[in-house]
Amino acid sequence: MKGRKLLMIPGPVEFTPEVLRAMGEPTTSHVAPNFIETFGECLEMTRDVFLAPSAQPFIVAGTGTLAMDLAVCNITEPGDKALVVSSGYFGGRMGDILCRYGAEVDHLTAEIGDVAGAEQLKDKLDEKDYDIVTFTYVDTSTGVLTDVETLAPIAKKAGCLTVVDGVCGTAGAECRTEEWDIDVHLTGSQKAIGVPPGLAILTVSEDAMDKFENRETPVANYYADFGNWLPIMEAYENRGGAYFGTPAVNLINALHASYSQILDEGMEARFERHERLAKAFRAGAEGMGLKMLPKSEELASPTLTALYYPEGVDASLTGDINEEGAIVAGGLHPDIKEEYFRVGHMGDCNESDVLSTLGAIERALAKNGYTCAAGAGVAAAQRVLSEE
Ligand code: PMP
Repeated sequence: MKGRKLLMIPGPVEFTPEVLRAMGEPTTSHVAPNFIETFGECLEMTRDVFLAPSAQPFIVAGTGTLAMDLAVCNITEPGDKALVVSSGYFGGRMGDILCRYGAEVDHLTAEIGDVAGAEQLKDKLDEKDYDIVTFTYVDTSTGVLTDVETLAPIAKKAGCLTVVDGVCGTAGAECRTEEWDIDVHLTGSQKAIGVPPGLAILTVSEDAMDKFENRETPVANYYADFGNWLPIMEAYENRGGAYFGTPAVNLINALHASYSQILDEGMEARFERHERLAKAFRAGAEGMGLKMLPKSEELASPTLTALYYPEGVDASLTGDINEEGAIVAGGLHPDIKEEYFRVGHMGDCNESDVLSTLGAIERALAKNGYTCAAGAGVAAAQRVLSEE
């Protein structure tokens, strides 16, 4: 029997052989000419993947949380007023980071499975003169997709800088950074970007760079200070080597391989593929009688799906799904952690991965005494996948 299991958690995801090969190439000097070219091209391709043609890209060694830290510490000054539009666990983290840098933070938090809409945001923005508004594009704890396309321009028009935590969405869920008025779009490498964990990636608009450049107080974080990283990014983009902290040479090689595959597929095709696979997965889950956390299809992320355990089934289901060949994740939102599980379907994920996972869930459910018509989930998903 094959020892391989499908890795279907919301990050890290499965990576392509090309990415893993690039990562395994002998490490070079960070100022070797071929690495300078690779890093320079990665910075350029970041603009293409984020659809942020005039933004300043940053690629720094660290996780998604470092990307959040980089975003916040550089554009926040003590006393700034920040609004966190929250749809789960990671909104809380963003609030904590903003507080750490001295911002006065309010949260606009919806009930679990929902997120604030345009009217609620407008009301909040009328109450106070906010400097920064943050959004979690996809909250990994709930699978809720925030309508950043509508909300970010509202915040921008109110004179705020907009920050989007795209860790669980970027390069999978449609996101048009510049068109949608996103000042700082941040992510980590390990999800739909398709590179093992370890890179913080962000694009920063001219307005956000202005705020950084005109700060009255020093950035209260040494490693994350744009003042240290901007000259490095500029140097590599101009095809010169530079040093502040040693670049993650092998991860950047892997990023180059992944970006090349992403752009070969094309952003539009990639967004559509994620939508289609997610729709099929949700149909499959529904076909087995499972209920998702997001309150509506519009709120459901194309990169992961959070599903309640059916009655009589508990969190041990995830172990059984794993035994059936698909690794999925348990709950994360502290209020309902034991009531649901999460399945990632992003990056290099394909139709067969979705169908195999649904099959594994069905078999695991049966082991737990929950039955549905044989193949009901797979059949429902197949119907979506066979639609034009
Ligand atoms: N934001 C979101 C939406 C995430 O899903 C995650 C990771 N799951 C993070 C931030 C933090 O990223 P990391 O774990 O790489 O620090």
